[in-house]
Amino acid sequence: MRKIIYNNLEFNELNSSLQDLKVEKFRTNQIFEGIHHLFYNNFESFTNISKKMKRMLEEEGKFIKIELIKKFESKVDKTTKYLFKLEDGALIETVLMRYKDRNTICISSQVGCKMGCKFCASTKAGYERNLQVSELLEQVYYISRLENIRINNIVLMGIGEPLDNYDNVIKFIKIITDERGYNISIRNITLSTCGLTKKIDKLSQEDLPINLTISLHNPFDSERSAIMPINNKYKIGEIFKSAKKYYESTGRRVSFEYTLIKDVNDSDRHIDEIVRLFNHENFHLNLIPLNAIDEFGKPNTNLKDLEDFKEKLVSRGINTTIRKSMGIDIEGACGQLRSSHKNELRK
Ligand code: SAH
Repeated sequence: MRKIIYNNLEFNELNSSLQDLKVEKFRTNQIFEGIHHLFYNNFESFTNISKKMKRMLEEEGKFIKIELIKKFESKVDKTTKYLFKLEDGALIETVLMRYKDRNTICISSQVGCKMGCKFCASTKAGYERNLQVSELLEQVYYISRLENIRINNIVLMGIGEPLDNYDNVIKFIKIITDERGYNISIRNITLSTCGLTKKIDKLSQEDLPINLTISLHNPFDSERSAIMPINNKYKIGEIFKSAKKYYESTGRRVSFEYTLIKDVNDSDRHIDEIVRLFNHENFHLNLIPLNAIDEFGKPNTNLKDLEDFKEKLVSRGINTTIRKSMGIDIEGACGQLRSSHKNELRK
């Protein structure tokens, strides 16, 4: 029989696995709470289970763990980046951002990425696999244990395309918002996607009203396709249709991310088209400075240009904000750390 992976399971799945092992029903609560409220990732830590039962549970299954390889503290802001090694040796990154009133964590959803965006470091080091539910959860639990903090916000914006790992990401969201576990409010979870419209439509039917943000980066199909190959499959028109549907079914305002790239997407022509696309809908535009990577050959965004672009959009009635770039001195761009660490290992 296949071994149970305890920290991959939703409450009901854990319950039926334990029932199969003839464990009393009330134990499901104890074990689920141990894993998701107290962050145990071994049966040794449990004080409310007998030795005999622990041995039996260890025989029948296991916990998946992650290992911290390196921790990078930013000197310019309260950002910390963690490089984790998974059981098969794969590397992922997680970022913690501490603000006055909250802690936000940016987690990875895959090892590498298939999407091939030209400006993104995550995709350069290649795609290996999806993260398991336990590996998504452990990023939150590991940092909560290590730093002795509570995470208030989760953004699925690290390495990978979260909607390309749909089933595990949905389970992760269900478990992390479970009242018997970490109990994060669904409104404090944000998922960023490059625009997989079929999956966005599916998500809008899940009764999980998380915040959705879509990487736009260019309002013209031909130009967007040149920097984001996924646009050959899901066009901008479809993306806006799905965004509208998402807003209508969840009541959550959808955001779009726009990394401003000099001489690529920063003209008045681009502004006119963004205004046309937004069409008075209740959308929001989040401008991001480009965090330059060698392979793309474009410079970091000039912050004055970013301000000017924002002002032009605001004056045209577009709800626009600038996302501050955090941890710029610790290779803040997603995937940069994994990619440079892999290169280091190759040397
Ligand atoms: N795959 C998802 C989430 C990961 S990337 C997505 O595409 O949305 C998170 C955000 O960072 C995306 O908007 C992505 O386009 C942007 N991004 C990636 N590389 C960047 C870079 N070098 N500089 C600035 N933003 C970048």
